[in-house]
Amino acid sequence: MNLQISNLSKTYHNGVQALKNVSLDIPAGMFGLLGPNGAGKSSLMRTLATLQQADSGTVTLGDIDVLNEKEKVRKILGYLPQEFGVYPKISSYNMLDHIATLKGVSNKAERKDLVESLLNKTNLWQFRNKSLGSYSGGMKQRFGIAQALIGNPKLIIVDEPTAGLDPAERVRFHNLLSEIGENTIIILSTHIVEDISNLCSSMAIICLGEVVIKGNPITLTEAVKGRIWEKTIEKADLVNYQKELQVISTYLKSGQTVIHVLSDNQPDLSFKPSVANLEDVYFSEITTRMEAMPV
Ligand code: ADP
Repeated sequence: MNLQISNLSKTYHNGVQALKNVSLDIPAGMFGLLGPNGAGKSSLMRTLATLQQADSGTVTLGDIDVLNEKEKVRKILGYLPQEFGVYPKISSYNMLDHIATLKGVSNKAERKDLVESLLNKTNLWQFRNKSLGSYSGGMKQRFGIAQALIGNPKLIIVDEPTAGLDPAERVRFHNLLSEIGENTIIILSTHIVEDISNLCSSMAIICLGEVVIKGNPITLTEAVKGRIWEKTIEKADLVNYQKELQVISTYLKSGQTVIHVLSDNQPDLSFKPSVANLEDVYFSEITTRMEAMPV
């Protein structure tokens, strides 16, 4: 069962066009949606989660018309939004029990088994009686996944899940996502390239509401192989390099400024070939588009 998005567009009342003819074919497994802030990721996620209307386009999940059969979608959807509010005083056990009741798990014994297995899966068992308000960021996100998993969803949408997590919490969260069954479609939206390269077998980059590139992260990286060059420079010279070359990224390495340049040929002998990675793909797609944006 694939999620098929065709020509989806959305303009908000203030005139911002958040989605421009977005078309994606998303198979089962982990799909990464990558883009800078304001790219339109949350707008797309909210539309798929039936929380907002699109202006035009179609979305189907198997034989479900996602934009028009909202109730059907909600039955098979698990959603972890960007801002995940929790009731601070209630324990995770009681909250999961409550959500399971709302989602129609009316048999008490069945609900007990479900809640216990979710708490174990998300490593929250030992904290099950603690109030959600006392949870760390990572624990809240794991609780968010636990509630999203109730009802055996076929489509799981996770919007910017690792923002604010420390590295250990991020790894734990990634492991949890990767353990969810292969037959489920999991859409992970993020602006963190590493999250995608570690987890996803297919992905798309969106920028200013448009899909700019899509495919398998390894294949996409292969496509820029041999065209990424790096050089350590004086920071003050950066503008000159930017005038002459397509500088796709700048970062610090042991306190020194290093640039990555996209070029079919070695710009000059002072540039070294760099091993291309997904970040190079991302920046080579994003940088020129963002520079062209009116301020
Ligand atoms: P992302 O999740 O990639 O950061 P969003 O989908 O949140 O992007 O936003 C895309 C664009 O739409 C941004 O320019 C944002 O300011 C705008 N936007 C998002 N939500 C609204 C809204 N409810 N009303 C008006 N503009 C919005």
